[in-house]
Amino acid sequence: MLKVRDYEFWFVAGSQFLYGEEQLDSVAKDAQKIVDQLNATQKLPYKLVFKGVMTTADQITQFMKDVNYNDDVAGVITWMHTFSPAKNWIRGTKLLQKPLLHLATQYLNEIPYDTIDFDYMNLNQSAHGDREYAYINARLGLNNKIVFGYWDDEKVQEQLALWQDTAVGYNESFKIKVCRFGDTMRNVAVTEGDKVEAQIKLGWTVDYWPVGDLVKEVNQVTKEQIDAEYAKLAQEYELVQGDNSKEKYEHAVRYQLREYIAIKNFLERGGYTAFTTNFEDLWGLEQLPGLASQLLMRDGYGFGAEGDWKTAALGRLLKIMAHNKMTVFMEDYTLDLRKGHEAILGSHMLEVDPTIAADKPRVEVHPLDIGGKADPARLVFTGSKGDAIDVTVADFRDGFKFISYEVKATKPEKTTPHLPVAKQLWTPKVGLTTGATRWMQAGGGHHTMLSFTLKQEQIADLCEMLGVNAEIIA
Ligand code: MN
Repeated sequence: MLKVRDYEFWFVAGSQFLYGEEQLDSVAKDAQKIVDQLNATQKLPYKLVFKGVMTTADQITQFMKDVNYNDDVAGVITWMHTFSPAKNWIRGTKLLQKPLLHLATQYLNEIPYDTIDFDYMNLNQSAHGDREYAYINARLGLNNKIVFGYWDDEKVQEQLALWQDTAVGYNESFKIKVCRFGDTMRNVAVTEGDKVEAQIKLGWTVDYWPVGDLVKEVNQVTKEQIDAEYAKLAQEYELVQGDNSKEKYEHAVRYQLREYIAIKNFLERGGYTAFTTNFEDLWGLEQLPGLASQLLMRDGYGFGAEGDWKTAALGRLLKIMAHNKMTVFMEDYTLDLRKGHEAILGSHMLEVDPTIAADKPRVEVHPLDIGGKADPARLVFTGSKGDAIDVTVADFRDGFKFISYEVKATKPEKTTPHLPVAKQLWTPKVGLTTGATRWMQAGGGHHTMLSFTLKQEQIADLCEMLGVNAEIIA
């Protein structure tokens, strides 16, 4: 997986001077203990750092400024242990430029009826302190995340973990650079979009490069470099020569590895973490990058076919949130409309990410009836079973819209001996008819990201953070 910064999240507790120094010491100790124990569970993907008890507007404002300029900090988690007058939070919170989670919890998970007194009450006022604090966030229109419940409960910790991944995705979104080899496919509408708006709203830099520049890079790859990758390929996957002569098979596979190395070099040099190709624009290349694109997706790069830079960037973003676990570029390929079998068969001509493979992928070489180039090598495999989500992003004159539904992924009933591509079958959980209809009503395209790792709630949270429209189909 392409490296992502080792982020941390800063945790603060809210209180006030009214209770006295001794009480504030207790607040600090309790907060530190929560942070220590949450870190010790190892359920959170990123470290929490306790930064103290906040009691004044000046202190809070300085804290938020520190969060903003520290690149290691991906977001803030607040907890109102006691009653923290929320006017103190206005200035600082308005300045905050990173995701905010309000953990509405209580240090103890019970009411100690036998011993409870006013000293206890001075220290355990989350019940109303959280509401005072939440009011100001609602008033400021922050759309921050609220996680409610006992901090040591599994469900609460799971929500914190998912939100951390989403918040890191948000931070990383502003670093995504997409390299487009060629333009979008001629006449296609849904893969188009406003690249300037994408940079303003989503942080994505989208650059065009002529395919000739890539060809130059392809020609510079050495035999030794290809030999080394060929050996790795043979270890990881099954090489299946099929009806091809040995010479033709090896040449086709080696050419894809040449493209893989060249594209990777090109992307690394330019700081790109996602890319697109277009089968209509392959001047000087022998084959459409198939296996090459699949290996790059495996490595964590975002990819969009037919020049689809929106899906390429979305792919990189969701791979970061999912730690590159089973989160892949897909296309709605063909349908099963029979009663009781309703499903979408997802695939692409060549470029399906092998991180969802349920079997050992086979490297095969077959003709491609499109593009007029040499027979490309590609990985062929069957996808996985389980709960997943499917996500796309479309561009409208009123902004970007993320569209998502939950799906049940299954395996195809049979093999497809005459369609040598990687495949994944799924059915929207709301049903194929409702799901597909609402997807199309929302204007969602056929290129998507399918994830067995991410949850629908994360897509909704991400849209809140980015301030874009969301159609969460449920
Ligand atoms: Mn396509």
